[in-house]
Amino acid sequence: MSEEALALHRQATVVDVHAHPSLKVSLFRRSLASRGGPPAAAFSPFSLRTSFPRLEEGGVDLLLSALHVPEAPLLDDIPLLKLLRRITPRVWAELVAPPYFAATMNALEAMEVQVEQRVPGQKRFARLARSVAELDAILAGGDEAPIAIVHTVEGAHCLQGIVAGKRVPDQPSAAAIDEILANLESFFNRGVALLTLAHFYPNYVTSPCFQFPETILPLARWRQALQRHDITAGLGPAGETVVSRMFELGMLVDITHCTPLARAQVYTLAEQAGVQGRVVATHVGAQAINPSPYNLAEWEIRWLADHGGFAGVIFMNYWLMPHETPFGLNFIVRTLAHFIEVGGEEVAALGTDFDGFTDPPDDLVDASQLPRLTRHLYAAMASPSQRRYGDETIRKILGGNALRVLRAGWGRQA
Ligand SMILES: [Zn+2]
Repeated sequence: MSEEALALHRQATVVDVHAHPSLKVSLFRRSLASRGGPPAAAFSPFSLRTSFPRLEEGGVDLLLSALHVPEAPLLDDIPLLKLLRRITPRVWAELVAPPYFAATMNALEAMEVQVEQRVPGQKRFARLARSVAELDAILAGGDEAPIAIVHTVEGAHCLQGIVAGKRVPDQPSAAAIDEILANLESFFNRGVALLTLAHFYPNYVTSPCFQFPETILPLARWRQALQRHDITAGLGPAGETVVSRMFELGMLVDITHCTPLARAQVYTLAEQAGVQGRVVATHVGAQAINPSPYNLAEWEIRWLADHGGFAGVIFMNYWLMPHETPFGLNFIVRTLAHFIEVGGEEVAALGTDFDGFTDPPDDLVDASQLPRLTRHLYAAMASPSQRRYGDETIRKILGGNALRVLRAGWGRQA
């Protein structure tokens, strides 16, 4: 690795806007203070790609840690998961059995215990930031600062509690909507900066894209599920209410996993509310490179750029590229280049989705390997005599843009 690229990486504020260390904590009781085995290339559910030592090695300064609890229909689609009840009754009791909101709070608390732990003889690895002021105080520590962790939530089903229930009938009661809004505010008050509206199944706020790309569906049951899936659906009955309240609170709205129509509806709501820098995409690819409805169309990249948001590139081959290969670093770089070409250098960010039961590229398998990305960005040439990206542009991609949006959009505005 060139010394200059490595120095630039070390100096830059590196931000991962979407990763799931919390899943490894709440499902498998992994300690984030332990490094976590040798690098795991292929899909491997028990690997630990965002342990604190790996984040530290990879120069990550801020991680937006996505909290997520499994949706009830997933247990129907993957019946094996029901075995969890016998294998790990405690995980079942904390994460699967309770109403979604209570289960998400359990995951949040388990993550906070990890972040607050001190390992004897080692410096503190991480610290939780519940506001922009706390985040800036951590980052002010420079090289010696712990890794800042900010809570986010993936899937608005996590807002559903006892009244709203786990299955979604067509129309929620007024009491269910009240409960959803109260739970949203509880998350915000606990320091949750961002909510990804959609995940795998429709919730009261929105409909999602299908879980997997059509190209990789191995089982007949998934192909049948795809045929039943409605990609033309938009926001759900609580969509407008929840998104509007998020704008009021100062909670970032993440349109990842939303259907194309739902995304367009969120953009319109932002325009009507006159807000800037509140709508983002945390872990996506580009339709121009892989024409999946999950990925962003060019006009959306432009919209996010014009409205002060960011688009975080996902580190997952089957969303990034039309034909899968084991390696993907080049496609991460190509997708970032496309974001910048279409939306300008203020829009590009990194949302690895590490530890989210993903299969990352074989040439960038965990957080410790992130300097490889900087090396590629640094070495990209626009002409034989000129680097394609200057140091400042690379700093924006690595974290500057994400940080700018958080500082401007998280929290109630004066
Ligand atoms: Zn996701």
